Amino acid sequence: MAGMNTRTVRAACPHDCPDTCAMLVTVRDGVATEVRGDPDHPTTAGALCAKVARYTERSYHPQRLLQPLRRVGPKGSGRFEPVSWDVALDAIATRLSEIAARDPQAVLPYSYAGTMGLVQGESMAARFFHKLGASLLDRTICAAAGAAGMRLVLGSLRGMDVEQFAHSRLIVIWGSNSITSNLHFWSLAQQAKRAGAKLWCIDPWRNDTAAKCHEHIQLRPGTDAALAYALMHELIRLDAIDHDYIERYTVGFEALSERAAQWPPQRAAALCGVAHEQITALALDMAQRGPAAIRVNYGLQRVRGGGNAVRAIACLPALTGAWRDAAGGLLLSSSGHFAVDNAALQRPDLLGQRRPRTINMSAIGDALLHPGGGDFGPRIDALVVYNSNPAAVAPESGSVRRGLAREDLFTVVLEHFQTDTADYADFVLPATTQLEHLDVHKAYGHRYWLANEPAIEPLGQARPNTAVFRELAARMGFDEPCFADSDEQIAAVAIDRDDPRNAGIDFARLRRDGWAKLDDAAAPFAHGGYATPSGRCEFASASEAAAGRDPLPEVVLPYECAESTPELAAKYPLAMISPPARNFLNSTFVNVDALRAREREPRLLLHPADAAARGIADGTMVRCHNDRGSYAVRCELSTDTRAGMVVGFGVWWHKLSAGGVNVNALTHQRPTDLGAGPCFYDCLVEVEAVS
Ligand code: SF4
Repeated sequence: MAGMNTRTVRAACPHDCPDTCAMLVTVRDGVATEVRGDPDHPTTAGALCAKVARYTERSYHPQRLLQPLRRVGPKGSGRFEPVSWDVALDAIATRLSEIAARDPQAVLPYSYAGTMGLVQGESMAARFFHKLGASLLDRTICAAAGAAGMRLVLGSLRGMDVEQFAHSRLIVIWGSNSITSNLHFWSLAQQAKRAGAKLWCIDPWRNDTAAKCHEHIQLRPGTDAALAYALMHELIRLDAIDHDYIERYTVGFEALSERAAQWPPQRAAALCGVAHEQITALALDMAQRGPAAIRVNYGLQRVRGGGNAVRAIACLPALTGAWRDAAGGLLLSSSGHFAVDNAALQRPDLLGQRRPRTINMSAIGDALLHPGGGDFGPRIDALVVYNSNPAAVAPESGSVRRGLAREDLFTVVLEHFQTDTADYADFVLPATTQLEHLDVHKAYGHRYWLANEPAIEPLGQARPNTAVFRELAARMGFDEPCFADSDEQIAAVAIDRDDPRNAGIDFARLRRDGWAKLDDAAAPFAHGGYATPSGRCEFASASEAAAGRDPLPEVVLPYECAESTPELAAKYPLAMISPPARNFLNSTFVNVDALRAREREPRLLLHPADAAARGIADGTMVRCHNDRGSYAVRCELSTDTRAGMVVGFGVWWHKLSAGGVNVNALTHQRPTDLGAGPCFYDCLVEVEAVS
């Protein structure tokens, strides 16, 4: 019962999840006692996932970092001594100034979506690094390939309103375990299912979501583009295409048809490792039950051909005219619906005439180990990490950890906990959690802006990211007025008030109401309106052709597979994917005891046929390895994975894993075909019993 000292504070989930839930935080005598979903927010509908329902446990965790730390042991040892903020900030400012005086590009910020907030993400931090002239970071690690594929076809990251899925008659979930990573979409899909919709899942493993759909196409990893082309082949053969829509709003249909003609279901089925009857059955459903509503997610683009796979899939709704109906079309990300004033938030003008080099975060291991010189530019001498844990989450983590272990690399980490990355820091700075700071959020799975109010005072000496970069700016003599902006002032400029989709929405309103829906068409491409160079849906891209590339979506096979690398496949015959464990979100929550207890230990799904061939029994520890690394993992025999494929759940912290190594020791740093993203699911391995 609410007492005199009890209040409810409006908040937003900060995690890297498309659902961006609206939260209500109960605060009793200055202590946050409960976090729950806002029942009035249309997509949150009163429910949080099991992870964030334990957010108070994470915030008050006994191992929260509560004071600045300075390294006293070797890099990676995790041995630190407490120091005051002044000592830490003075030392950091001095060292960054010395390095920047030689070449500011030797300083690299490293950050991603540890918080999705626009204030505690790239606002004051970006201003600081722009003013310094530091290297720029290409933030590719999650969505770059799919985003690039979407932009080539649709011109932007716009798509279906997720709420419309509740009204769809045919839903195709492609490359996603929605129950784990997009829970509130799944609730809407369940509504549709109860109303008679048919659900298909396309995914290499029979995950929780696939098991609850009517049909599951369990294809080989990295073959999605071939499947998309076979669907086009069948839709064209059945004449289940919208000639009028194609004529009015698309370019390149003839060329696309010719390419699709090369992919009859039998050919695609052989490559995908599925029955061709499944492909024809899905095409028939799209022809008869449509319009299809396709929820593409990021799993399928974590392979070499991931960009082109999304590109091929993105052609389907225009081919069938599904975009005409708000309950048809496709959704990868809603982020293109949000007009954010990045110029005001991040102040790229502070670069002046300087154009620093850009480092791809997905190849951070190679970057840290580069000696400098040539096209690369100066060696990286300083790394400032915030909102990320690259030692655990970046590919080929053996290289990443060797790079972080360089004694001549000055590393600063802003964190809640002493993560694998923090173990390598020279200074660790305690960061506030979402309960302790102000923020404003857009989403990438729905269309609501949200405000996050601080519910409690910062714990210990923790400070918001903005405060840290504000203090560093002052110490380094950055005197532009923007470095004095408060968090409220930053939040107020984040929403682009000139964009009509934000009409009537400002931060004051978000603070009052908690959230507000942006104003955009429910069926964004019903009448064309594509942001491509031609203004049409580009089945074929003239700009790609002009650049000497294939104007059409291509079928690009993985770097590592029997067709591309037969010798490697003979040595390492198992394809590995590493989707998130249900109770973790990337590497966040691994140290929350209750959630880790549910996961117990790192697990690897192995098909019984592959286990029998190797003499591996269910429940035994195995060594999963390739030329890049090896990790010890508990083996679970299951027909939920394909024969010839293993599922190694991530992303455990190295130091909380058996043997001190996680699955990313095996992944590689080569880029996707479009967007230069990582290829986490393009990885051949072998598994052997451990005696
Ligand atoms: S992680 Fe996703 S589902 Fe869980 S509370 Fe946050 S936004 Fe909602």
